[in-house]
Amino acid sequence: MRHLLEDVLEGYRLSEEEGLFLMKARNRSLFDILAAADRAREERAGPVVSYVRNQNIHITNICKNLCGFCGFGRRAGDKGAYCDDRDAVLEKVSRALGRRVTEICLLSGVNPDFTAETYIELIASVRQAAPGVHIHAFSPDEVNHAASRSGMSTGEVLAAMKHAGLDSLQGTAAEILVDEVRRKICPRKIDSATWIRIIREAHRMGIPTTATIMYGTCEQAEDRIRHLAILREIQDETRGFTELVPLSYVYLNTPLYRNGLAGPGATGREDLLMMAVSRLFLDNFRNIQVSWGKLGEKLSQVALLSGGNDLAGTMFSDDVSVDAGASAADFFDPVLMERICKDIGRPLRQRLTDYTLV
Ligand code: SF4
Repeated sequence: MRHLLEDVLEGYRLSEEEGLFLMKARNRSLFDILAAADRAREERAGPVVSYVRNQNIHITNICKNLCGFCGFGRRAGDKGAYCDDRDAVLEKVSRALGRRVTEICLLSGVNPDFTAETYIELIASVRQAAPGVHIHAFSPDEVNHAASRSGMSTGEVLAAMKHAGLDSLQGTAAEILVDEVRRKICPRKIDSATWIRIIREAHRMGIPTTATIMYGTCEQAEDRIRHLAILREIQDETRGFTELVPLSYVYLNTPLYRNGLAGPGATGREDLLMMAVSRLFLDNFRNIQVSWGKLGEKLSQVALLSGGNDLAGTMFSDDVSVDAGASAADFFDPVLMERICKDIGRPLRQRLTDYTLV
């Protein structure tokens, strides 16, 4: 393992088998992997820990997919189901502007009633209300849904979204890009091939996206590495991913856990290995994000020493994690971010969505 880690730091690209070998580390060799990932982070992204001032705006929790790992989605008519109208969305936008955000994320369930026109009008209204703010919105699954509801191609939907003011697409709905796993955890979502096709389309049209991995349900280490290999291949081709966002499964209020189909999520070892192996395996990604809403403040700090270089956004609202059972996932005050960064000798800097430092 020591030779392998030295080779990676010299620029050697890990094979899937080697990535898997690292992902399965169980004893104190774990610390060698974390330290190597920290050095790779230092070389590729420097010492700065960045964050973006952003706000999540949830439009609806009504969702056609009802994924097994999600505590947020509801059927129309279920207790707690909601769908905001234009005025309610604009009210949330105005609150976000009052908080001096540079990015607005539109996050929703995949409402069966939404058409391409709904998504395009939403983007256009937010663009008009917040002209200088970066709009980061919707997933490939929503693009596919909009296309099939409105009889358009996914390329046409993406072009119309971009024209309406979309700046970047969310790389969510990726979960684990292995169809056998998807059939268990999100059977109504698009399959892996469709996710990959829409992401490539977006990148080719000059719409950057994030890349995500949602791990800790019932997938194996092999599936995590396959997923990372797919992302690395797309990035070689398009350079359209801005960062990887590892999302640790929050289990408490989810059907998969309630029905005994998944355990209580990843362990601390798995969370840190996910971060570190991603850093070492994805040699063409500059940014690996630490998702504090999933990991909590203390493990997030260690993740910053295991390959992570970004603390995501202030968020001001994350109903998806809160509804699934994560505590304190709503807002991370930059003052507290500063505290954990200072404690490990790293500078904290505000950034824009494209990682330009403010
Ligand atoms: S993860 Fe997204 S698509 Fe799946 S049920 Fe939740 S809101 Fe719907």
